[in-house]
Amino acid sequence: MGVASLHYVLPLSSLLAGVAMRRLLIGEVPAALAMFAALSLPRVVTWLGHHAARTPKRLPDPGSIQGHQDALRATIPPPVLRVLDEAAMVVQRQTRAESVLLHDMRLADHCHDGPCKPHWSAGVMLCVPNLAGHSLLLIGRALREQETIGILRFVVAHELHHAALGMRRIDLLMLTAQTIGFLLVGFLAPTLTIAAVGAASLRLMLTLCSWVVELACDKVGVEAHGAEQAEAYFTMLSRGRYRSCARAWPWWQRACSILTWLQPTHPPVWLRIWYCRRVQRGAPGRATTSRAR
Ligand SMILES: [Zn+2]
Ligand SMILES: [Zn+2]
Repeated sequence: MGVASLHYVLPLSSLLAGVAMRRLLIGEVPAALAMFAALSLPRVVTWLGHHAARTPKRLPDPGSIQGHQDALRATIPPPVLRVLDEAAMVVQRQTRAESVLLHDMRLADHCHDGPCKPHWSAGVMLCVPNLAGHSLLLIGRALREQETIGILRFVVAHELHHAALGMRRIDLLMLTAQTIGFLLVGFLAPTLTIAAVGAASLRLMLTLCSWVVELACDKVGVEAHGAEQAEAYFTMLSRGRYRSCARAWPWWQRACSILTWLQPTHPPVWLRIWYCRRVQRGAPGRATTSRAR
């Protein structure tokens, strides 16, 4: 589910449905019907979000999975491959996926000179429906280099914590709040103004929750591999490095990216660096031991 769907379409649809149900209950039938009709409006945001989504689009097709895997694995240095294979086994155990495939983190029709953010990105896609239940471990090109193996270990620890059962339950709770929470706000608020303020507050709270989840995953990565690797990684993610990356998008996609900018899914880099240093200070022994691996 894209950011636009999760942060805009679901909340807006649920809020509108809640307000419409309240209007129906108090006998304002025309207003309720108008609101039910307006429920189709968030689809416009879905359409914009779908076209502006900066998520990997080139998934391997099921018929060429093995060939794709072999070709990708042949480009990865053996020590890096060992880290990725261990991570894939953990994901498979955690999620009972049929198998976990390595995949390049890249974006369709996106190429330019200079640093590219997806090359420094990673993620786990669990049990992808159109891949016959296989999960994907997505790793950007820059993280598959021998020189960045320390950073890769931190990133992989972070992503594995996202895929752990406890974190997946928190994701499910947040998804429930995106629907039931906004529906209740719409239904219980006596006026539209109060509904809008309630919805904005709930959305802000959910953004902060997703930041807390990210920091919890950073903490696991620091405890296992040290704050230096985290800091090196976040330095690579700093916004100023990717001006050419941003310019590579059509103007309308850059305009739509304000939707993501307004509700960032991740805490700012400075906050993550500060937090990782703090975690390191709290557990120096553990981090030093693990970093030596
Ligand atoms: Zn780029
Ligand atoms: Zn994360």
